[in-house]
Amino acid sequence: MSASRVAIVGAGPAGLFTAAELLAQDADLTVDIFDRLPTPFGLLRYGVAPDHASIKAVATTLARVFDDPRARFLGMVELGRDVHSSALRASYDAVVYAMGAEDDRRMQIPGEELPGSHSARQFVSWYSGHPDATPLDLTGVRNVAVIGVGNVACDVARILLKDRNDLSTTDMPDSVLAALRSAEIENVWLVGRRGPENATFSSQELRELVSIPGVDVHREGPPWVTPDPETLDRRAAGNLAAMTAAIERPHTDAQRHLHLAFWQRPVRLIGTDKVTGLEVERTGAEREAEGPALTVLPVDLVLRSIGYLGVPVPGVPFDNGRIPHLEGRVVDDDLSERPGEYAVGWIKRGPVGLIGSNRKDARETAASVLADLPSLPRRDLTDLVAQMADAGIHPSGIADWRRIDQAEIARGGIRGRERTKIEAWHDLLDLVSAAEA
Ligand code: NAP
Repeated sequence: MSASRVAIVGAGPAGLFTAAELLAQDADLTVDIFDRLPTPFGLLRYGVAPDHASIKAVATTLARVFDDPRARFLGMVELGRDVHSSALRASYDAVVYAMGAEDDRRMQIPGEELPGSHSARQFVSWYSGHPDATPLDLTGVRNVAVIGVGNVACDVARILLKDRNDLSTTDMPDSVLAALRSAEIENVWLVGRRGPENATFSSQELRELVSIPGVDVHREGPPWVTPDPETLDRRAAGNLAAMTAAIERPHTDAQRHLHLAFWQRPVRLIGTDKVTGLEVERTGAEREAEGPALTVLPVDLVLRSIGYLGVPVPGVPFDNGRIPHLEGRVVDDDLSERPGEYAVGWIKRGPVGLIGSNRKDARETAASVLADLPSLPRRDLTDLVAQMADAGIHPSGIADWRRIDQAEIARGGIRGRERTKIEAWHDLLDLVSAAEA
């Protein structure tokens, strides 16, 4: 009997951990890993901050999947645009959706779409050199509000506040470094709608943020009510201690300031042709006596870091930003299973968790695939790659990615760095088509 064929849609950490797990557990299968980009690694490449090199090093482990002759990378193929899910189903015994969460949650407040208001996802994509990112002009930007108090907010605030020379050793594209140098950042507000004990920072990320050299940390907004330490979990207690210590540290007349603004809810962005301020409202009815209810933060840039959102795919069940599932097996609205369809990563469990969380998640989904494969009805499968070729769609391969990889390493070498990202589509495409030249 021929080997079972599995398709994975999305070559990010969730998809690649799943591929690794499947290949490790079953010798008799092949895995085709699709991605809409010619570059694998998803959020590891375009989400993890450039100055977090140790997390990015997970790519070395994930890349081993492509050393296995049973695995194939099929880049520049977008589900829903180039290929319909029904065509995937007709060509593979099992299909695993691992597309992540490619959109942003919205605040639904006036002014959200003004120039100068961006989602953190857009900002992160830009500084990570994503080819679809819109270049940002930060000339003269001094004051920034970051809305939300999670790890993404922590990343973007750190990138804004950190000394540019410390960023110049990272893999950031030169255009991004130049734009960051053109900003004259003085103040960054982190705006949380609840108390500091409710912030979702990892303590390590927070400690890194509040100890950036040359940055003074301030408490802003209503006073913090110190909760009973007994009621706090370890992370909340650690976060509160780190913030309090940073605020109490003697100020140094620093050029840059981080303002921790809790108990404040954004109500509108102010400005006519661009953002000039963010109006926030004090939250918590019990805090009425504590200062004005409405305050305007005088900012020229607003980054909304309030969470990512999954995007629906035609023909695949979708509910509240995710693909509904039972242990990774995709289910319809009435919970009936759709044999041969699976989900993993943020599109399965929502936009939460660290890169490493995908390992456990992938194990669960892979176990479901492996348990089901023997009992799934054997069908005459079609050859999707041949069908795509007939339609003029030619996926990029792992050799193309390796060429991009080498070119980035060479670019970095000239500048004394490990790598410099290639951010322009045309430069990536030149390297993809170099194989045909
Ligand atoms: P997150 O941790 O869920 O934080 C979202 C923040 O947005 C919360 O503070 C939330 O406040 C706030 N928020 C939501 N809706 C809001 C609204 N309408 N108005 C104002 N504030 C609003 O998500 P994230 O920061 O996007 O991170 C996503 C996942 O990636 C997390 O699991 C994170 O740990 C992970 N990550 C990890 C790292 C790392 O380890 N270095 C780096 C980046 C991301 P409420 O709590 O009040 O809802």
